[in-house]
Amino acid sequence: MTLSERDLQVIWHPYTQMQTAAAPIGIVRGEGACVYAEDGTKYIDAVSSWWVNIHGHAHPYIAQKVAEQLMKLEHVIFAGFTHQGAVELAERLLAILPSNQKKAFYSDNGSTAVEVAIKMCLQYWHNKGEQRTKIVAFKNAYHGDTFGAMSVSGRSAFTAAFDSLLFDVEFIDLPDASNLADIKAYITSIKSQISSFIFEPLVQGSAGMVMYEAAYLDELLAHCKAEGILLIADEVFTGFGRTGKNFACDHLQTQPDIMCFSKGLTGGTMAFGLTTCTQDIYNAFLSDDKLKTLFHGHSYTANPVACAAALASLDLFLHPSVQENIDRIVAAHQAFAVRINGHRSVRSTRQTGTIIAIEWETGNNTSYFSSLRDKLYHYFLDAGIILRPLGNIVYILPPYCITNEELNYIYSKIEHALDEI
Ligand SMILES: *Cc1c(COP(=O)(O)O)cnc(C)c1O
Repeated sequence: MTLSERDLQVIWHPYTQMQTAAAPIGIVRGEGACVYAEDGTKYIDAVSSWWVNIHGHAHPYIAQKVAEQLMKLEHVIFAGFTHQGAVELAERLLAILPSNQKKAFYSDNGSTAVEVAIKMCLQYWHNKGEQRTKIVAFKNAYHGDTFGAMSVSGRSAFTAAFDSLLFDVEFIDLPDASNLADIKAYITSIKSQISSFIFEPLVQGSAGMVMYEAAYLDELLAHCKAEGILLIADEVFTGFGRTGKNFACDHLQTQPDIMCFSKGLTGGTMAFGLTTCTQDIYNAFLSDDKLKTLFHGHSYTANPVACAAALASLDLFLHPSVQENIDRIVAAHQAFAVRINGHRSVRSTRQTGTIIAIEWETGNNTSYFSSLRDKLYHYFLDAGIILRPLGNIVYILPPYCITNEELNYIYSKIEHALDEI
């Protein structure tokens, strides 16, 4: 039996309607921007395996560092103990984050990084004896799939079964020239109850690669800060070069109080989460009173192997050739957008850094569940490209090592699809 056949007997896949989904493709190895199936088919991973991969698959340098770490120390309890990788990773990351980020709290994935951020904010006010229990978030936000992260995410078909159990959140529109003054006034009117504001800076990935301007976000953040509201930048998706700079917050003047990271943190090698915060937030938990402790942790907190993968990924990431690759992808995307804008099947294109999104013309059926999405998905798979359209939005966000030849192949197949579908 193939992997694919054996899988169907025993596995339940994420975000998959198991009754109607095609059998999964068994992947046996990866190299560069490509993965290889058990039948020998090569696929270009144009979505970086759900946005996590930045240096390509099975990178030998990361593999080497992970292997060395496994021979030295695979794991140790992280309460009462520490280790080289956890300390060094915190030192090196804090040095390149916005200068107010002073402390690192490790967890396991993006959702847990967000849970930690939310709990830090709520307990910050609790420890100070203030009743600030509400959180502000953007409509259509996505911050993860656990209950707290789901609560601060937009209500949608994905949350419908749980909506009555999610805690109340003040949802606001993305800021633009027309609504910024109203949003600021609204925030001021409710500020005494608000603990924090969580946002995906510049790009709302899961919402359909929705992009908005740094300048308006910056003004909104400055306003929230002036009103005493804590700012949580969810950089789980935008971190590590996706937006063209190291972090999306590098496009902003106002520094967040808390930042969340995961996807690119280990270069796409393994699950890991990180929440960083300011000295002020950290200080609010310092007390002789044990009840002011942040009571949160996971069995695998600061796993040394994950730290080794993240450190190796960081070594690669900070090499100038990576920024050159990012700049090359940015320029290639720009030229591609110019070429296809005006095509009858293109409603619009948008780009932030290495992310380009093409909104397909659909008449009026734009649902995620539309047949267009499945048609496009299978069209690209048949062409040896992994693209996962969000409804009628086709986006490319490749590993930074993708070659020009691979990029051009993806562009040409999208152009064919625009003509044919
Ligand atoms: C993917 C994502 C998350 C959740 O991360 P997981 O590791 O999938 O739990 C949170 N926030 C944003 C912005 C994301 O894109």
